[in-house]
Amino acid sequence: MKALVMNRYGDLSVEDVPCPGVGRDEVLIGVKACGVCGSDVHGMDGSTGRRRPPIIMGHEASGEIVETGADVVKWRKGERVTFDSTIYCGRCWFCVRGRTNLCENRRVFGVSCGEYRLDGAFAEYVVAPQHILYSLPEALSFESATMVEALSVAFHAVNRAGLGLGDSVAVFGSGMIGLLVAQSARLAGCGKLLVVDIDDGKLEMSRAMGADHVFNAGKVDVEGEIRKVTGGRGADIVFEVVGVADTVMASLSSVRKGGRVILVGNLSPSIEFPLQSAVTREVDVLGSCASSGEYQACIDALASGKIDVEPLISVVAPLEEGNSFFHRLKAGEPGLMKVVLTPS
Ligand SMILES: [Zn+2]
Ligand SMILES: [Zn+2]
Repeated sequence: MKALVMNRYGDLSVEDVPCPGVGRDEVLIGVKACGVCGSDVHGMDGSTGRRRPPIIMGHEASGEIVETGADVVKWRKGERVTFDSTIYCGRCWFCVRGRTNLCENRRVFGVSCGEYRLDGAFAEYVVAPQHILYSLPEALSFESATMVEALSVAFHAVNRAGLGLGDSVAVFGSGMIGLLVAQSARLAGCGKLLVVDIDDGKLEMSRAMGADHVFNAGKVDVEGEIRKVTGGRGADIVFEVVGVADTVMASLSSVRKGGRVILVGNLSPSIEFPLQSAVTREVDVLGSCASSGEYQACIDALASGKIDVEPLISVVAPLEEGNSFFHRLKAGEPGLMKVVLTPS
């Protein structure tokens, strides 16, 4: 089969590789579309250590079942599906408590990190165990379905926040996940929705997607502006979707006393932390990673149009253009958001 293989850091090429075999519990999926994730782009140069060559990346995929293993009863050939980016075991201490994103035996498609290597979906075919599959409604295109994974990260963060109706929300960072967090917070019934970034283009997009106020952190005093529109207190809930010291600091100083900060971004492995501010103001600080059980709700929200991802998909291109698009994404080309690759 055809696959986009990274044989050396920074160098992806389309090659002919053996088609994966199907285990008893697995299905073979003919990939129709697969999104390029920020983690793939960051992994491409070796900086994260999670995409060690050789590897076929890609974990945001959709397609059609072409073969089913002997023990697969629920799924049939020809069904349109997407699947969790993570294979969780379903049996460990965390899985049995529903926290599948914290699974002890977690493996992510398109990741090779030393502990394991699991080829992903920038290929004609990919194999997945039956328990991580989700059926796609007709209303959802294969291209839009590649956004389910990113949206599930946003849904999980909003679920972690325990957002109440009318709560004011500030989102730091309006990249792909930030924009989806903002839309998801709106869907969950937030009050004032404030978005912070340093890119006016992205802020405009946030406004178009429902933000009440957008603030350019390079131009205004964000903390002051947020207080102005939240009765002088600060936001009830802040989502940090960047993951560097400056935005974590700003998140802590923009949340109200007794408010909640959800940390989603993690570009920096560690940062200096405003301990006294968090302690004396009794701020709840929560981490949020991937998703656990949000996929179906995301599929429904996309199919019904409650969440709109069309403006976020910049381009659908063949696998052959993968290397070029990976480098354009890495260079941070303005306006280039989600790139979806198709094998045919
Ligand atoms: Zn992803
Ligand atoms: Zn597990």
